[in-house]
Amino acid sequence: MPRANRRRRDEPDLDLARAVGGMQRREVHPDGEWFVRRVSGAATDKAYRCPGCDQLVRAGVPHVVAWPADGPRSDAAALEDRRHWHTPCWSARGRRRTVR
Ligand SMILES: [Zn+2]
Repeated sequence: MPRANRRRRDEPDLDLARAVGGMQRREVHPDGEWFVRRVSGAATDKAYRCPGCDQLVRAGVPHVVAWPADGPRSDAAALEDRRHWHTPCWSARGRRRTVR
């Protein structure tokens, strides 16, 4: 029985990742495109409110920072729009489109 020639749709766009310094990438979600940056715990020294579960992302915990890719273009505005998510919360949100 022939196997379907399925393409994974969630592979990182490596060229784009390089273009932005390899720090962040663009992900497509049902509600639009997002820039996503994974931060190590060591880089954080304050707590944030996770929009996924409404709990705090504690200082020192590796997590995900996401902001709308189709939002305001200025860096200052993008910074305002950034949201800090627990990694599992962001994954639960984004994996809905992944076909496995
Ligand atoms: Zn959370």
